[in-house]
Amino acid sequence: MTASARLLIVGPQGSGKGTQGVRIAESFGIPVVSTGDIFRANIKDGTELGQQVTAILEAGDLVPDELTSEIVRDRLSQDDAAHGFLLDGYPRNTTQVGHLDEFLGARGEGLDAVILLDVPRGESLSRLKLRAAEQGRADDTDEAIAHRLDIYEHETAPILEVYGARGIVDTIDGVGSLDEITDRIFAALDARGLRVAV
Ligand code: AMP
Repeated sequence: MTASARLLIVGPQGSGKGTQGVRIAESFGIPVVSTGDIFRANIKDGTELGQQVTAILEAGDLVPDELTSEIVRDRLSQDDAAHGFLLDGYPRNTTQVGHLDEFLGARGEGLDAVILLDVPRGESLSRLKLRAAEQGRADDTDEAIAHRLDIYEHETAPILEVYGARGIVDTIDGVGSLDEITDRIFAALDARGLRVAV
């Protein structure tokens, strides 16, 4: 069953936003649009975009805003995103918020809710190190992990002030079991009238 919802999930790397994002999107019948996944798929397939961003991802730096926003605009223009989507990893700074506002505004749309998964830095770090050991992602070196958490704190956290001023941020305690956290997110969305149609 599908229900319209335009959502963004935000949290430091290692907060579990990827896993929770998929759960929420599946329930609402909307696609997950994860810029990190799009970049990784392009790297894996050896596309021109992939070659352009490989070194940037390995260093844990941000891909240029205009390039990233163009990719998101293309993705959100596809039919399956017409009635909603869950963004994961974008926007990642206030410039990208401006790009997204412009794009959605032109369609007479806006985000319905921003789900912030709140996880202390120490917890994110240990989860990321565990994932590095399990999955061996190229950008999961100690150095790149610390760098990405720094970028999150300095560049991404400020987007929450912008969305907070619009009254659309739901801060969710991101420590607990996967199911507990999913339930907390659904409860917050439900309180906004965002619920899966039955
Ligand atoms: P993620 O899977 O969201 O942690 O993203 C992995 C990497 O992809 C990041 O460390 C960045 O190098 C790049 N990336 C993902 N999303 C963005 C974005 N919105 N803006 C710039 N770079 C991004």
